[in-house]
Order: sequence, then structure tokens, then C-alpha cells
Amino acid sequence: MSIADNIHRINAELAGTAARLCVVTKTHPVELLQEAYAAGARCFGENRPQEMAAKHPQLPPDVEWHLIGQLQTNKVKLLAPFVHTIQSIDSLKLLREIDKHAAANNRVINGLLQFHIAQEETKSGLSLAEAEEILTSPELPQLTHVRLTGVMGVATFTHDENQLRQEFQTLHSYFDHLKATYFAESPAFADISMGMSGDYKLAVAEGSTLVRVGSAIFGSRG
Ligand SMILES: *Cc1c(COP(=O)(O)O)cnc(C)c1O
Repeated sequence: MSIADNIHRINAELAGTAARLCVVTKTHPVELLQEAYAAGARCFGENRPQEMAAKHPQLPPDVEWHLIGQLQTNKVKLLAPFVHTIQSIDSLKLLREIDKHAAANNRVINGLLQFHIAQEETKSGLSLAEAEEILTSPELPQLTHVRLTGVMGVATFTHDENQLRQEFQTLHSYFDHLKATYFAESPAFADISMGMSGDYKLAVAEGSTLVRVGSAIFGSRG
């Protein structure tokens, strides 16, 4: 199966669901991103700021660039001129930095709060209490150049479907709680980013609005 075949197949699977596809292009050369673009992909996810910044000028301007990996505050500046969504927000400090650089570029950058839903301790993300601490900070309303548009999570690396379902349900319940409590008047807070190559079908069944799929499109990263 070609890259185009894979993208068309996944888009067909997502048709009629709430979910759209973000193609995870990390480690792959620009030629493959161009191939994915030609097949209709418009959302690209990268996990390294430098790599994304290097690829960005080589793709058409209507690509939505999503950062899906941990972001150090000193790298925000590199992305601020073009990044569409930072899916890995895990601190007020990072929000402050994104706001500052987005303002300097006259932009508003979208952000997802990343939650820790997996069993692996090594995976990053906030607890619900930590997220609520950020959301109740008196500073947050002043950060007008960053717009929170939902939540993101990475499930445990497992084939145990019950486990995966439970983790996706947990993220969905966090979204529902935050939406009702802090974003009832904010239609932009709408995304639940969950599901990767191995588990996106389960994630979609559990209400994902954005799946992040790499190896099921490009093959393994080796
Ligand atoms: C690499 C990565 C993906 C895509 O993983 P695949 O298994 O290749 O689909 C999705 N989300 C995050 C956060 C990633 O780092």
C-alpha cells in the first residue's frame, strides 16, 4: 500500500465519525510529507521543534502544523511564526511562553492540554488536578494569544483493548469535565486528540476528534 492508499483508507474509515486525521510525519523526509500532502493530508504532526521548523518552509502554506512532543520553553520561538496547534501543553509556564511569542508574531496559537492517561510513568502529561490549577490561575485570561482548544493523551503501549478503552474514556471524561466547568462558553474548546496507529479505531469509538497516525501510513520508523 502506498502512502496515498493508506491516507485514503484511513480517511474513509473516519468518514462519518467525529474524528479527523493528523498525519504524524516525524523522522520522515520532506518528500514523503509532499506525497502525503498530494494525497490530501493537511494536518501534520511532528515531535521535534527543529525538525518541524526545517520542514515547514518546504510545504504549502495551508498545512496545519501540530507539535505533538514535549516542548521546552526555549524552543517556542522557533515555532511561533507558523505552528497551528501545540498538543503537548503541560504547564502554565509553557502557556506564558507561547502567548509571548505568538503575540510577537501577531498570532493566536492553539493548544491542547496533555494528560497522563497511560500506565507507563515515563509518558508525560498532566493530572486533572494539575490542569485545573492551570485553568484557575488568574494569569490565564491575560494570555490572549494562546487559545486552549481541547485535550490530548497517549495511551499505554498495549494490545489490551479494555485497558485502552478505559484510558480513552478517562481522557474523554476529563474533556467533558473541563468543557462544562471552564469552557461552556468557548466553542473552540472541542478537540480530544487520542489514537495512534495501533489504537486509533478504539479511540474513535471512544469519541476521539483527532487521531495522530504515523506508522500505519508510512510504515515503521525503523
Ligand atoms: C509518534 C507519535 C504518534 C504516532 O505514532 P504511530 O504509532 O506511528 O502512529 C502519535 N502521537 C504521538 C504523541 C507520537 O509521539
